[in-house]
Amino acid sequence: MPNPISYQVRNHIGVITLDNPPVNALSVGKGVLQGILDAIKEGEHDTDVRMFLLIGGGKNFSGGADITEFGKPPAPGMANLRDLLAYMDTVTKPMVAALSGPTMGGGLELALGTHYRVAIAGCQIGLPEVKLGILPGAGGTQRLPRLVGAKTAVAMITTGDPVDTDRAKVLGIVDEVVTGDLMAGALDYCKRLLKEGKPVRRTSALATAVDGDPDAFFTAERARIAKEFRGYPAPLECLACVEASVKLPFEDAMRFERQRFEVLVATTESKSLRHAFFAERAANKIDDVPEDTPVRQIRSAAVIGAGTMGGGIAMNFVNAGIPVKVLEATQERLDKGFDIIRNNYGATVAKGRLTQEAMDKRMGLLEGVLTYDQLKDADIIIEAVFEEMDVKKTVFREMDAVAKPGAILATNTSTLDIDEIAAVTARPGDVIGLHFFSPANVMRLLEIVRGAKTAHDVIATSMKLARTIKKVGVLVGVCDGFVGNRMVHAYFREAGFLIEEGALPQQVDRVMEEFGFAMGPFRVSDLAGLDIGWAIRKRQAATRNPAERYTAIGDRICELGRFGQKTGAGYYRYEPGNRKPIPDPEIEALIVQASKDAGIARRDISDQEILERCMYQLVNVGAQLLDERIAQRASDIDIVYLYGYGFPRFRGGPMFYADTVGLPAVAEAMARYAPIGPQWKPAALLAKLAAEGGRFNR
Ligand code: NAD
Repeated sequence: MPNPISYQVRNHIGVITLDNPPVNALSVGKGVLQGILDAIKEGEHDTDVRMFLLIGGGKNFSGGADITEFGKPPAPGMANLRDLLAYMDTVTKPMVAALSGPTMGGGLELALGTHYRVAIAGCQIGLPEVKLGILPGAGGTQRLPRLVGAKTAVAMITTGDPVDTDRAKVLGIVDEVVTGDLMAGALDYCKRLLKEGKPVRRTSALATAVDGDPDAFFTAERARIAKEFRGYPAPLECLACVEASVKLPFEDAMRFERQRFEVLVATTESKSLRHAFFAERAANKIDDVPEDTPVRQIRSAAVIGAGTMGGGIAMNFVNAGIPVKVLEATQERLDKGFDIIRNNYGATVAKGRLTQEAMDKRMGLLEGVLTYDQLKDADIIIEAVFEEMDVKKTVFREMDAVAKPGAILATNTSTLDIDEIAAVTARPGDVIGLHFFSPANVMRLLEIVRGAKTAHDVIATSMKLARTIKKVGVLVGVCDGFVGNRMVHAYFREAGFLIEEGALPQQVDRVMEEFGFAMGPFRVSDLAGLDIGWAIRKRQAATRNPAERYTAIGDRICELGRFGQKTGAGYYRYEPGNRKPIPDPEIEALIVQASKDAGIARRDISDQEILERCMYQLVNVGAQLLDERIAQRASDIDIVYLYGYGFPRFRGGPMFYADTVGLPAVAEAMARYAPIGPQWKPAALLAKLAAEGGRFNR
């Protein structure tokens, strides 16, 4: 194993270099921290050494803890970060940290344990632990406030958002910005410190500054954070630690931080957030498409259809600097689509989140076209026309006729069979589904749908493309609704059954919102519009199985012309210009009548039943998708829900949530609901894992 730390004395300066690629993770097991400790001890005894310089080899100072060591027992005989920092606080020779790039989490805690810091421009510096439901547990909540004051520390630690070098300099985290070569600049800085006889300056010996009355400050922050981060315990614990930095001696506050860290690590919320973090990485792994599969180059793109989805899809590409040609059926529709894109960017410019210059550059990468021959050079063509098989087939024949060899031909269909679409082309291996979610320029999820014949390098290229355009790609197989929509269909259907049996929309929505969704199913329906689903149901009426349970409530509501927010009324009513849903006695009467018409005696339905029935429908269909190998792994389904459906991250996703409840308990509840209908028959995988006491996510 190469030595992750090198030590060298240069002009009386003990230079300790971190060399643990790719991000200089502070691995305990690999001896990174022990190596730093040993080097410091060596330099302390060396009379030739007058100070220390700690510097990252490569483009990072340190990305923080080694995530592969999470949850594992500590390596015996090796120093951890807390041991090292405690020792550093006793060192009597000045120490400088030189930051060469990302300095995150434990990396920043390490840098804060030195006495002076220099950095090159553009470093990202922060304590992101809160995003994993924990807190910086090696003094980060104690040393950062002592350097930057309580207010800034609370903002940085409770959001986990980093600051850049310039800001870090203003805040006092960084003492000097180095231009040019970091090593040379840092050594010059050290020389100056020596010349000026600068002493050690322990962060732990400083006092945390608070503007005004500390009690008033922390009381107000507690109220704000409790509201802003509902469901997440870590931000409040971070705040409590910063408060401890004001009110307790350093050693006591460090013990407090440790204790709060231990509490947080054990919470379901933290386990869920860590699951989400690892699940996102796991989603990139595809069993039969190895990571070294060659990818095709995507330097230019084309989108067919400039409607709701096409416009948003095109924006993703130009945001990433990739030129896009957008093809429409008529100039008028093209103009309309471009107007919407322009207004979208204009709104971002108006909010100050994009410069006019950047907007102009992006608009300059877009070109509207009306004929297919103009798409012949595109590396990828994405179809986003009407959701009708015949239209799609016509478009794919045209795409096949003009696209250059090796171009990827993608469809944004939500429901149609990709294999059937691919079959009209002479190159089904180049065809893939790229299922964006609305609004396509905002939603992070991209379901990548592989057809039976999709080539491996087309899959690999699509997964890479997702990252290029800042999406989270999840590979799924062909079925009606793919992963996300097939599951959500069962969720909405069950919510409909619940109101038919005795609940009201406001009760169902409240329960799901208390669970953590931003909006319950009926508020979502009102927001999305009820008319599209109604039109689909009317079309399906002739072929619907009469033996299947069907709730007519949605149809009755649409028959009143109530299509949701856009008509001022749906499951709720709305005051003009206000999106607040107001429960409507007219709807309650309509629902009661619908139950009567269906011969259902209404009953009180508990909150628990609502939660279980909505959630376990998601879970059961998720398990079916695993049975059918439409989804590769349970954690992929969780990612689909976290990034495509606003599933609360602190619950980890529907499959992880089921794991936290315990699959035997889930199966037991499903057995209780079995008399309600066939949707409660457990999927084979769920039944098996429940019987074994197993989990979806291992
Ligand atoms: P839309 O009606 O807003 O836009 C479709 C556009 O395609 C229209 O502008 C139309 O003029 C254009 N078009 C139709 N036929 C064409 C042709 N032959 N050549 C060129 N342009 C043509 O529809 P949308 O909501 O953007 O949906 C597009 C696709 O995306 C559908 O397959 C839909 O299922 C899928 N999708 C929609 C959503 C959503 O929430 N709207 C989400 C995911 C996927």
